[in-house]
Amino acid sequence: MINIPELFGSFVFNDTQMQARLPKEVYEALKRTMEDGEALDLNVANQVAAAMKDWAVEHGATHYTHWFQPMTGITAEKHDSFIVPTGDGKVLMEFSGKELIKGEPDASSFPSGGLRSTFEARGYTSWDPTSYAFIKDGSLCIPTAFYSYSGEVLDKKTPLLRSMKVISHQAGRILKLFGDDSDATVTTTVGAEQEYFLIDKEMYDKRPDLIFTGRTLFGCKPPKGQELEDHYFGAIKTRVSAYMKELDEELWKLGVLSKTKHNEAAPSQHELAPVFATTNIATDHNQLTMEVMKKVAERHNLVCLLHEKPFAGVNGSGKHNNWSISTNTGVNLLNPGKNPENNLRFLLFLTAVLKAVDSHQDLLRISAASAGNDHRLGASEAPPAIMSVFLGDELTAILEAIETDTPYQKVKKGTMDGGVDVLPHFKKDTTDRNRTSPFAFTGNKFEFRMLGSAFSISCSNIILNTIVADVLCEFADRLETAKDFEAEVNAIIKETVKNHKRIIFNGNNYSDEWVEEAEKRGLLNLKTTPEALPYYISDENIALFGKHKIYSRVEMESRCEVLLDSYSKVINIEALTMLEMVRKEILPACSRFASDLCVSIQNKAATVGAGAYEMEVAKKVTALTDELYLTINRLDENLQGVKAITDGKEIAQYYCEKVLSVMQEAREIADNLETVTDKTYWPYPAYGDLLFSV
Ligand code: ADP
Ligand code: MG
Repeated sequence: MINIPELFGSFVFNDTQMQARLPKEVYEALKRTMEDGEALDLNVANQVAAAMKDWAVEHGATHYTHWFQPMTGITAEKHDSFIVPTGDGKVLMEFSGKELIKGEPDASSFPSGGLRSTFEARGYTSWDPTSYAFIKDGSLCIPTAFYSYSGEVLDKKTPLLRSMKVISHQAGRILKLFGDDSDATVTTTVGAEQEYFLIDKEMYDKRPDLIFTGRTLFGCKPPKGQELEDHYFGAIKTRVSAYMKELDEELWKLGVLSKTKHNEAAPSQHELAPVFATTNIATDHNQLTMEVMKKVAERHNLVCLLHEKPFAGVNGSGKHNNWSISTNTGVNLLNPGKNPENNLRFLLFLTAVLKAVDSHQDLLRISAASAGNDHRLGASEAPPAIMSVFLGDELTAILEAIETDTPYQKVKKGTMDGGVDVLPHFKKDTTDRNRTSPFAFTGNKFEFRMLGSAFSISCSNIILNTIVADVLCEFADRLETAKDFEAEVNAIIKETVKNHKRIIFNGNNYSDEWVEEAEKRGLLNLKTTPEALPYYISDENIALFGKHKIYSRVEMESRCEVLLDSYSKVINIEALTMLEMVRKEILPACSRFASDLCVSIQNKAATVGAGAYEMEVAKKVTALTDELYLTINRLDENLQGVKAITDGKEIAQYYCEKVLSVMQEAREIADNLETVTDKTYWPYPAYGDLLFSV
């Protein structure tokens, strides 16, 4: 029997360890850095480093690494051992404050979007003391930020920390106006639900497409898919259950609050949800979760697929970013609450989110844009590429009443109670659910559902924090100079609802009617990544991030460049993989099959008479093989065509229109071929084998 409370956080240099191992003044100085952002003095850092090292060595660590999050969206680490030579042929294990605070990895091999050429390769990593250090694979991992020699941000952590500070400040101004004179600080909280597929390692090893691209580029539908709806929340298979158990234990050791696990809608698809944490810790933990998921899978002879759409025609995997704002004393500002005065504050925060989402649909869409997620958004199991907010009937009715100056009629069990509740209180459970909404209010938080499963949640939270902070700033400016505070709050709420109610949609986001309706409302529908990304560097967005000191213009341009470039690279790799699979395996296999059929036809003709089965199939396979051959040649030609283009935006557009589209055509032909080809000739495990073999 494992003792979970004992296991939990056992590989984390957490508060308990700090208290136990640091002198009181050092602990307190460190706490001030963690909580109030006070600069850390070198003497304190030295003592913290020494204590961390002792603890790490006791737990079997031999190395340390600054664990950071470059713009690749995954994490990076470079390991240094603690050894220091003593001159007598021996070593000591040492770790200094300087080494803890700052590292100097070579930055030239990480994407920078033109921010830095290789000759100015110096990059720095600096410790984020608000996220605990931990031990992973024998190394003490120190969560860090990553920036260039000239100070430009090269990672996903620094802007996130900045955005948290900005929203904390702006929300704090609002709280003060509501009479909160405590020193409570405001922070944004996130719980990231993570979907994933688990498939058998042996099957995976036979699929170059999965190995090189993370998704299947071919595969006809299996006889059984998810239509029986028998997988979602279904009983978990023994092998999967053993995997989940070990995954939980590994995550708990690292202090990740893994809470819920269940089967998802598609066969072989599962989900893990943690208890929410502050945004930067939730982000670090989600990165760790994805990494540990893959590692643990290997030990079970499984492969964990985090791609957004590993299988066509089967649900893809997303990541639900549950987001809220709370004080450090535990007051959730998006909790409707019981008291009217709190509700006024709640309504102000609620409308701030509405305005932010409506005004910055482009940014939120971009935060979920990638080559992988393009296959998923709008594919009738995931929200479309159109932003909208689900509020539920009750909240919508309240806002409507405020907007039109009509008394709110509280609905009770189907009958109007006739009573007038200006600011009614509603329980968490009175908001109904809408699984189709990209941005749904779920009782005391918003759930942003567009994110793809492989994403870092950093970008969407930088954006959420910044856009909501921007609106709160505008509200605070007005309220600080208002003569009648309450009247002004009401005026702001009313005006905001009036101007931004088009973003509220409680209906079915998967329907075609909604696409039409959204267009009438003037909402953006940015279907593909190349279409969405250029919005990132609009003057308005550069001004927004500049105003709040999250990103400079060059930092935004570089980020846009990195995103466009990675989109193009992903499709390029997919196209090359497809060419190789078709030319080296699929076409030769089909040719062999047709040829063997022809031998049969000849043999039969000489004996029992030509067989209709062999004739028809041989003809069909030959025709499809030729068609596939021509299509794949066209794909190759189009791929060559990209060399003539130099602009990153145009390249991405070209990959979308001229490469991806032809890949789709080739896939359809190949999938048809698979349906008529003898299984023993087909070079790859079929969807049925991949999805139902675990
Ligand atoms: P639901 O019933 O809406 O699915 P859950 O309580 O199951 O809500 O939570 C779903 C996810 O949302 C979990 O990861 C949870 O930790 C997270 N969550 C809950 N409350 C908050 C909050 N205040 N801020 C951020 N995330 C939250
Ligand atoms: Mg979910």
